[in-house]
Amino acid sequence: MAKIAQVEVLPIAVPVDSSWDCDGSVDTLVVRVTDEDGVAGIGECDAPPGVVKAFIEMPSAHIWSQNLVRQLVGADPFEIKAIWERLYETTQYPGRRGLGIHALSAIDIALHDLAGKQVGRPVYKLLGGARREFLLPYATIFPGMPAGRSIRELMEIIHQLFQKALQIGFRAVKMEVLFYELVTDRELVDLIREGRRMVGPDVTLMVDFGYRWRDWHAAKWVIDRIADCDIYFAEAAVQHDDLHGHARLADHTDVRICGAEHAATRWEIREWIEKGKVAVVQPDINRCGGLTEIRRIAEMAELYGVQVIPHGWKTGITAACGRHFHASTLNAEFFEFLSPDLYDSPLRRDLVSPEPEIREGRMELPAFPGLGVSLNPEAVEKYSRPIPLAGRATR
Ligand code: MG
Repeated sequence: MAKIAQVEVLPIAVPVDSSWDCDGSVDTLVVRVTDEDGVAGIGECDAPPGVVKAFIEMPSAHIWSQNLVRQLVGADPFEIKAIWERLYETTQYPGRRGLGIHALSAIDIALHDLAGKQVGRPVYKLLGGARREFLLPYATIFPGMPAGRSIRELMEIIHQLFQKALQIGFRAVKMEVLFYELVTDRELVDLIREGRRMVGPDVTLMVDFGYRWRDWHAAKWVIDRIADCDIYFAEAAVQHDDLHGHARLADHTDVRICGAEHAATRWEIREWIEKGKVAVVQPDINRCGGLTEIRRIAEMAELYGVQVIPHGWKTGITAACGRHFHASTLNAEFFEFLSPDLYDSPLRRDLVSPEPEIREGRMELPAFPGLGVSLNPEAVEKYSRPIPLAGRATR
């Protein structure tokens, strides 16, 4: 097999009017790994593109602070796990969690894409093969941050998005209730009931509370009162790092308590499972350590009877990762799928193609080699951004 010949790190972003919304698809950092035959694999991560680029291209200083590009060139892209561990070890001073793992995620995804293309097989086959006959995506229904709008305006948008998601073909939806002080907890109960009425009884409904509470009792109070709404899971009820709060909540409610969308590596996820006692973990494939790490997370979670339903709010690269992971994993009943038809996001719509179809809540298994999506050169050209950081690192 051809070895890695080139590694490119491409910061991409669309101009935004306000950075105070909560849309992770306004920028991305794409890593493109090309082999000696000119075959290329792509990956991405959800972190400030310029900062991750600087991390990947940092000057080598000592054994635990090494330039990543130089270690990749000349390597066999099939040795994905070995490469993962080498890069983890050689960046453990500045890396090990957070940004270092985000960078490693983008590289790992690109290596899977490249290796799949080299052998002409879809990535899920590299991950062990199909464990299901079709895929079950869920759509996140997010009206945006309140930004001065009334709760009725937000609920009207939620209503429209629900309709659109069902029209597109989704049969599982997640209602984001990031309403903050616009509503009391008592009002929030009524709004979630209204959400259930909007989608009807047959659609799977999840709720994301967006870290509303610092007191798990308050979270329990609301979750108890929506018990008859048949909520599949309750996400981000208390603060991300409050694992004891998650555990108390999990001990005192019947609904699946979940979180960990910002967690990196199986080491952090183990804490979420053992200390946080959550029923579902939601690491993002492009931030937790890539496809290598999320498969390791899924195998570990299986020992605890915990599901892995990955977070994903980026471009079509991450959307493709969700499909391949879900295809290869039994303890992942759903995966978050950001549909380009649901929100107006230029990067989600234009950066890669093609898009899968959803029919009656299902998608077919991916069919094309690698991730099965390709960069659109015009979009890369249009949205490539110079980096507002100090200059390139020497290698
Ligand atoms: Mg979330």
